[in-house]
Amino acid sequence: MAVLIDNVPDAAGRPRHPEKAHRPDQPALRKPDWIRVKAPVSPGYTETQRIVRENGLHTVCEEAGCPNIGECWENKHATFMIMGDTCTRACAFCNVKTGLPGALNAAEPEHVAQATAKLGLAHVVVTSVDRDDLDDGGAGHFAAVIAAIRARCPDTTIEVLTPDFLRKDGAAETVITARPDIFNHNLETVPSKYLTVRPGARYFVSIRLLQHVKDIDPAMFTKSGIMVGLGEERNEILQVMDDLRAADVDFLTIGQYLQPSRKHHPVVRFVPPDEFEALQTIAYAKGFSMVSASPLTRSSHHAGEAFARLKALRPAR
Ligand code: SF4
Repeated sequence: MAVLIDNVPDAAGRPRHPEKAHRPDQPALRKPDWIRVKAPVSPGYTETQRIVRENGLHTVCEEAGCPNIGECWENKHATFMIMGDTCTRACAFCNVKTGLPGALNAAEPEHVAQATAKLGLAHVVVTSVDRDDLDDGGAGHFAAVIAAIRARCPDTTIEVLTPDFLRKDGAAETVITARPDIFNHNLETVPSKYLTVRPGARYFVSIRLLQHVKDIDPAMFTKSGIMVGLGEERNEILQVMDDLRAADVDFLTIGQYLQPSRKHHPVVRFVPPDEFEALQTIAYAKGFSMVSASPLTRSSHHAGEAFARLKALRPAR
């Protein structure tokens, strides 16, 4: 399977992860049998890749080295990553490039909408790099992308997977009032791991963002996710579930962390499938409407089908 991506420099000679380049190599555990993925070779994969390239778009599927890319792209499901391919943060788990991003592309909202139409997406997931360099954290650009998709593909449901908008007053409101169908923001890990795994973020800022969505629009669906295998304790996962339920989050995803390279945080443990099943049962018992927990669960994996089921659980808005 192709998960280990690279630390090699780009065409201009810049390292992909300058902040990680001088770190010692981390151990890499051998993957267990249950981490099996489809090779990205199908005609559907090639067609998805062509549409993404033609529209000059980035996807988190490629940038994060997602193990599900063979399966998702075969089914023409890609998750668009807007506002460039360079992130202002340097999370220890993430394979997206770190650096100072370029200016926003004003044509990008229309390009995302065109690609959504060409792929025939019934449900589109839009995420982004962190843009701490922008006054609004990129919230206005998210809103423009939502508006462009609505105009071109009125029947497509829209899921946004946003940054935390740390210290960006009013940013969350901008995205919420653009009315995506589902607002997703990942916690990524348990609070005790933030300093080592997600050092630029604050756990309770992320929780408050999700709560804020429901405060502004109680009917909007909310979603969050964590990775396991980073050294967290089981009780900490249960605490995260409680914190998310206290923020009235509807949908929880839990997946296995996979190490993009030796310079990234090590996989401390491969969590076996039966533990994921147990976590899923507990999460439902705690009141989530929808839970997806498995080794290869990712925020956007089967997001369309899951959203359709989630929506069906509630009376029409
Ligand atoms: S799970 Fe999400 S990020 Fe991974 S390939 Fe599928 S759509 Fe892309």
